[in-house]
Amino acid sequence: MWDSLRKFFLSKILRKHYWRTGKCKGCGMCCTHIYVKHFKHVLQDEKEFKRLQYLHKFYADLKIIGKDELGLIFECTNLDPETKRCKIHFWRPGICRRYPQEELFSMGGTLSDDCGYKMEPIVPFAKVLEDVENKQRRKRIIRKLF
Ligand code: SF4
Ligand code: SF4
Repeated sequence: MWDSLRKFFLSKILRKHYWRTGKCKGCGMCCTHIYVKHFKHVLQDEKEFKRLQYLHKFYADLKIIGKDELGLIFECTNLDPETKRCKIHFWRPGICRRYPQEELFSMGGTLSDDCGYKMEPIVPFAKVLEDVENKQRRKRIIRKLF
C-alpha cells in the first residue's frame, strides 16, 4: 500500500521514472567519488568550483581528488577514513539524505557496484512493452472493424 502510494507520488506528481529500493550499507563509497552537477553541466573547472564553495557548505567540504571524462571528481572531507562513517551524519545536507536519485543517471553517473540501494524503473519494462502491444492489438482490431 505504502509502496503504491510512493510510486504514484513519484511518477504522477514528481514525474520520476525510477524509484529507490534497498538501504544504505554504510560503505562510504558515494562520499569518496562525487561529481557535482551545477545547472545542466557536471563541473569541469576548478575556478567554477571555487566560486560554488561560497554558495553552499556542502561544496565547501569537498576536495578535488581527480578528473575523468565526466568531470572533476571530489571526496567529502566529512567522511571518516577509518570508519567510513559520516562525521556530520545527523547534520548532513539534504543532498546526502536524498541520495541516490534519478538525476544520477542524467549526469552519466551510476551507483557503485556494492551500494545497498537500487534504482528501479517505477513501471517495469515488461509492463511498458505489454501496454504497447495491447495498444497495437486494439488498433488492429479497430482497423478490421472498419
Ligand atoms: S556530508 Fe557525510 S554523507 Fe554527505 S558526502 Fe559528506 S561524508 Fe558523505
Ligand atoms: S554507496 Fe550506497 S551503500 Fe555505500 S554509503 Fe553510499 S548510499 Fe550507502
